[in-house]
Amino acid sequence: MEFSSKLLEKAVNEMSQLPGIGKRTALRLVLHLLNQPEEQSIQLANALSQLRTDINFCKSCHNISDTELCEICSNPRRTTEIICVVEDIRDVMAIENTSSFKGLYHVLGGKISPMDGIGPTDLNIQSLVEKVKNGQVKELIFALGSTMEGDTTNFYIYKQIQDYDVETSTIARGISVGNELEYTDEITLGRSIVNRIPFETSLKS
Ligand SMILES: [Zn+2]
Repeated sequence: MEFSSKLLEKAVNEMSQLPGIGKRTALRLVLHLLNQPEEQSIQLANALSQLRTDINFCKSCHNISDTELCEICSNPRRTTEIICVVEDIRDVMAIENTSSFKGLYHVLGGKISPMDGIGPTDLNIQSLVEKVKNGQVKELIFALGSTMEGDTTNFYIYKQIQDYDVETSTIARGISVGNELEYTDEITLGRSIVNRIPFETSLKS
């Protein structure tokens, strides 16, 4: 792609670093911004830079939060004894949308994936194991989606905590196989949480 302006080229190159955005789409977005009032570009740039500098993670569940303890963790009406283990904030949002879960979350920040060089220590696993060791948790619900990486991560955590007095369950399979959690519809996802099965049962099937 030949550009008549270095500034335009730079903006398109940056924009096309985003997932799913090719050079053509990047050019369309950049030209769109140029056609809008200057204010809009400034607000976008400010929002992105502020996001990077000011972003916080809940000190308990590691979800993205503006406060030290997120709204879910600090809500006295939530059950603290049941923790749903998820990959990232999109899963928290998807499960919250179902209104089927009143416990807390633990956001791992990814899944174990040797192919991508992501090991257990790269994820928020140790703090989860500590919660179990401290006896704060009665049940862990694994909700990582049924990819190989999800299964590996579930099993790794299970191995770390199986000697402690905690129940483990996994969201019902079948409908969501091969899909990431965020793409499952609310009713299906809600049902799969309510109808969760003991983790050991899922290992045998
Ligand atoms: Zn939290």
